[in-house]
Amino acid sequence: MDIERLISDRALSISASGIRRVFDLGAKLKDPINLSIGQPDFPVPDPLKSAAISAIQNNANGYTVTQGIAGLRTRIAAHLKADLGWQVDTRPSAEADPSAPGLLVASGTSGDLLLAFLALLNPGDEVIFADPYFVMYPHVARMVGAVPVMCDTYPDFRLTAERVAPLITSRTKLVLLNTPSNPAGVVASESECHRLLELCRSKGVLLVSDEIYDEFTYTDAREPGARGELGRRCPSPGRFQDAERNVLLVRGFGKTYGCTGWRLGYAAGPRRIIEEMSKLQQYTFVCAPAPLQWGVIPALDYDMSPHIDAYQKRRDLVVRTLSPHTHVAAPGGAFYAFPQVPERLGLTATQFVEKCVGRNVLVIPGNVFSARDTHFRLSYATDERSLLRGLEVLAELMQGG
Ligand code: PMP
Repeated sequence: MDIERLISDRALSISASGIRRVFDLGAKLKDPINLSIGQPDFPVPDPLKSAAISAIQNNANGYTVTQGIAGLRTRIAAHLKADLGWQVDTRPSAEADPSAPGLLVASGTSGDLLLAFLALLNPGDEVIFADPYFVMYPHVARMVGAVPVMCDTYPDFRLTAERVAPLITSRTKLVLLNTPSNPAGVVASESECHRLLELCRSKGVLLVSDEIYDEFTYTDAREPGARGELGRRCPSPGRFQDAERNVLLVRGFGKTYGCTGWRLGYAAGPRRIIEEMSKLQQYTFVCAPAPLQWGVIPALDYDMSPHIDAYQKRRDLVVRTLSPHTHVAAPGGAFYAFPQVPERLGLTATQFVEKCVGRNVLVIPGNVFSARDTHFRLSYATDERSLLRGLEVLAELMQGG
């Protein structure tokens, strides 16, 4: 049988993730210094592990309602109230206040994003996001037949209203903000969030805010927030008056609690959209993994700040070590930096990364995340000794070593 004939144009149009290619290169190295990893290096907190284990032992292994188990939904709703002032109504749709935001627990933040795209985008509709971008965005847009519109944000990687406004057309349905960002670690300021929200409102466009790294926002990038009584937090477009009518908030548990393999994320926002996403989840993912939904109920009461503080110190080390040699846009969050390959070297990022691999260091070339190939992504979610050794090699290579 000609299996090749059976493969869809959709699948053929997508090449394997460039991150995978770096992993493959790394697999050939003996004990590489791996600065390419997009997940935390700390273990899942014990209360989460215990809650997941108990759920399995207590037979919570079957399907759950598609929106997620009540105990988790209630806990997330309380968190969104305390954090953003949102009044999420977790009751079933028939009973819920139609003007209150809805909430859906899905299989990872990726699951929420896919469902949002499926629920909102017709073929030919446009979705705007920053270049450089999280690798999934353009592919998922194309998978649903939509058109990814990339907004060039070099050299500071800030998705501002001024940059987005000229890209909005009558086909634009979504603007997708990712803050703190992957791959640059850049955190949008409160006023940038506000201006973007106002722009989207004025154009009738939904602002999707991918805040999977929200807890990894370092002290210098935190702001008091529009509803100042909520304290210093990760800036979010969700913090402004009535934002829940225009913002689809997407957050997750994987990065914050080191449980990326548990595949748990959630989306909150306009109830109509959440309803459509839930319907689509019913016929695709069905529900997020049941025992792991139980596992993350204690998460939002668990203090991750010692880990976040440690990551902030690593961020400082990265910026301190590389800034004398190249431009590093201030990474206020996540666990990435996106330094420029010094122009004087005359190398593309791919060529520079090959040199890094030759010195046993793995980082990811910019063209995996961007139309340009001038920068590289470095993840500091790795132990400090490896990070130090890796940074020394990068600094040497940047000096032509
Ligand atoms: N958004 C961004 C910006 C990410 O970096 C990632 C993971 N790398 C995701 C979403 C997907 O996360 P999850 O594992 O929860 O699907």
